[in-house]
Amino acid sequence: MPTYDFRCQECGERFTVKMSWKDKDKATCPACGSKKLQQLFTGITILGGNSGGGGCAAPAGSSFS
Ligand SMILES: [Zn+2]
Repeated sequence: MPTYDFRCQECGERFTVKMSWKDKDKATCPACGSKKLQQLFTGITILGGNSGGGGCAAPAGSSFS
């Protein structure tokens, strides 16, 4: 079962619902019960990215003699 992220346009609540695609129009805000929901597409998560990390740096003490 896929999950969908929504944000309520009434109260701003963000939540994830697990339902089939054809039922996603039936989603309601768990906080206020509103049906005015904006679907969030979070397929690619940017959280925790290693931005600026020097993971591929060559070792300093390379000894080619
Ligand atoms: Zn709401």
